[in-house]
Amino acid sequence: MLTGNMMDFQLTINSVMRHGRTLYGQQEIVSVTADNPLHRYTYEDAFARVSQLGSALAKMGLSAGDRVATLAWNDYRHLEAYYGISCSGLVCHTINPRLFPEQLVYIVNHAEDKVLMVDLLLFPLIEKLRDKMPTVERIIIMTDEAHMPQTELNVECYETLLAGHPTDFTFPELDEKTASSLCYTSGTTGEPKGVLYSHRSTVLHAMACTSSASFGLNSRHTMMPVVPMFHVNAWSMPYACIMAGSKIVFPGPKMADGAVLTQLINHEKVTLAAGVPTIWLALLNYLRENNLTVDSLQAVTIGGAATPRSMLEEFEQTHKVTVNPAWGMTETSPLGTFNSVRPEIENLPADELMPYRLKAGLPPYGVELSIRNPEGIEQPRDGKSFGNLGIKGPWVASQYYRNDTNIIDDKGFMDTGDIATIDQYGYMQITDRAKDVIKSGGEWISSIDLENACTSHPKIAEAAVIGVYHPKWDERPLVIAVIAGDDTLSIEELNAYLEKHVAKWWLPDDVVYVDELPHAATGKLDKKVLREQFKDHTLPSEQ
Ligand code: AMP
Repeated sequence: MLTGNMMDFQLTINSVMRHGRTLYGQQEIVSVTADNPLHRYTYEDAFARVSQLGSALAKMGLSAGDRVATLAWNDYRHLEAYYGISCSGLVCHTINPRLFPEQLVYIVNHAEDKVLMVDLLLFPLIEKLRDKMPTVERIIIMTDEAHMPQTELNVECYETLLAGHPTDFTFPELDEKTASSLCYTSGTTGEPKGVLYSHRSTVLHAMACTSSASFGLNSRHTMMPVVPMFHVNAWSMPYACIMAGSKIVFPGPKMADGAVLTQLINHEKVTLAAGVPTIWLALLNYLRENNLTVDSLQAVTIGGAATPRSMLEEFEQTHKVTVNPAWGMTETSPLGTFNSVRPEIENLPADELMPYRLKAGLPPYGVELSIRNPEGIEQPRDGKSFGNLGIKGPWVASQYYRNDTNIIDDKGFMDTGDIATIDQYGYMQITDRAKDVIKSGGEWISSIDLENACTSHPKIAEAAVIGVYHPKWDERPLVIAVIAGDDTLSIEELNAYLEKHVAKWWLPDDVVYVDELPHAATGKLDKKVLREQFKDHTLPSEQ
């Protein structure tokens, strides 16, 4: 082999930080936080503080690769943690505060987090669980002295920790394969699984996110990531925006608040935004009810679940905001596909174009997709034939953290658990989900865990839980159960019991009793039959 003569420049998050600080030092970052309704500073200010955090972390006696967890909403301190931790050669482990306490404890212990950085608003969660987290040596509350809570626990104040440290700390030179961040997916049943990203995967993924094949970020744009920073690194926006020099607007804890989002968009002249359908529903409802507009907004990316047609139409027709559906997973960093209109289809009549507009989209360079039947045969790209969706690329996981299960097949693809079609133009569409989960407001509910909780009730003989359509949350759980004996059990009674076993937001919206549940040949519940049978079921919460 004749090796090329080019530099071995390491694709690290440190290099993204250097670039952003050097080129776009005066660009703004605006955040809503618990202790400041509208905090505003520049990239230069941010990276000066990232330096201070890096210096503070260096004095803690941590070893390379140690995990530093964050439990926080979208704001500037969380951004500082993202960079300060990863650029120090430590792993930024973002935790979803909506997890059921047992799951939260499980992942902190599985990750063996040494330090926990927690938002002021989320601290009460940790206070209750502290003694179940033996690996955690320090807890840092992300606020200033004036807002520090009264607590028995040994905690530190973030602002005090930073004070006095140099603003030009020299971060270590890192190999691009160094682990940078960790995010657990609780998608399927069983234990949550950790996806461990590297600097290289993060940088390549962020480059794809700046490209015009996806978000098309540049320094003229103002991006509002409404997707949580604990959900797949807020779809890379904290990296991609800094790389492109875009202004960032962080909504803090107010992510599903239509009034706050409207105000932020209009006040900060947001041009691009990204989030799950539930968020956009809240925004559109608020705009409609208050007869308001969002004139600066040019495009929204909708991912995490399919984009409803009515949502696309309302954004585009009423507000002149382009909608780009997108698909991805925690395991894929997440960008897998992004929907923008190819010239080959743009002149189609509106009714013929619409089905393409609603698909999950096209893979950007770096992502390769396959759809294969259960025998492993690749299916035609005709928009009709469907198969198990496989994905490969430099920002796709090759295994889970501290888990030996092989997730790559003989052709080098990771099975996504989604069933999809791909059409002649390359647009992928999710048609079904092989994995048995319910997606409510962008967050997973494990139907198996719920079923187990239901069947542990003495009055329930057998139970199946499926997701049924809900206009606000996309899907909500419906229990279909066989009652034991002649008893009765209302949804209220059932939920009063389930509340002790699962998170409140997992509680089913409805229960239907049947004489018998359908089973497949293997004896497993045949959820396909149930999904078909109950696809038009109206939940009480919708009426
Ligand atoms: P997560 O790892 O929590 O981000 O969840 C990833 C899963 O969400 C995917 O495997 C899909 O099942 C689902 N998902 C994400 N985006 C879409 C989309 N555009 N359409 C349908 N399902 C989606």
